[in-house]
Amino acid sequence: MEYVFDPNPVVSVAVLNSAMQFPVHRIYCVGQNYADHVREMGGEPKQGTPVFFSKPADAIVTDNKDVPYPPATNNLHYEVELVIALGQGGSNISTAAALDCVFGYAVGIDFTRRDLQAQAKSAGRPWDVAKGFDGSAPISAINPVAQMGHPSSAVIELSVNGETRQHSNVENMIWSVEDIIAELSSFFALTSGDLIYTGTPAGVSAVVAGDKIAANIQDVGSIAFSVI
Ligand code: MN
Repeated sequence: MEYVFDPNPVVSVAVLNSAMQFPVHRIYCVGQNYADHVREMGGEPKQGTPVFFSKPADAIVTDNKDVPYPPATNNLHYEVELVIALGQGGSNISTAAALDCVFGYAVGIDFTRRDLQAQAKSAGRPWDVAKGFDGSAPISAINPVAQMGHPSSAVIELSVNGETRQHSNVENMIWSVEDIIAELSSFFALTSGDLIYTGTPAGVSAVVAGDKIAANIQDVGSIAFSVI
């Protein structure tokens, strides 16, 4: 095969306690999955089905690398989220079979240009420019299910400059890991390499260049980096 130019490199994430890398296929995201965050954004929890959107695979930032403050915003928000990493996929996956698809879990940040999201919401426009920008998806190493199992109850928290801003438990998710995989697979053919950011609890707010962000999910992992 000859290409007209060199293909871009495969995007991948480190696997905890391993020399192997997890190659990323797509990034799906769930919105409005913690009631306290839905309320702080002015909404009502659990209206209908989950909110799904996506980011480009190469929006990830790995290995605790610094994240450049993105252009076109004055209101960059962090959102700490449990990330599902799929080892296999399918269409119309049942909730009973969903956990068998999971390779592992990670800690992710769904960075959001909140000012652009507010404009999109009020105009009835897509969220892409608010959510899918370069560097918008920092992620920790992936902790394989073979090492950690599945997190049914685990503290999820984020701090900025050492001050706790988000503190909840993944058991507060409106849609569970099984629910999310089953529902998402009714819209898309899921496959190995897909990442799913599962939504954030309350406490989101703006950061500026120079801020240090640290996030942790109990028994899953942690992430720490600066916005520059
Ligand atoms: Mn989010």
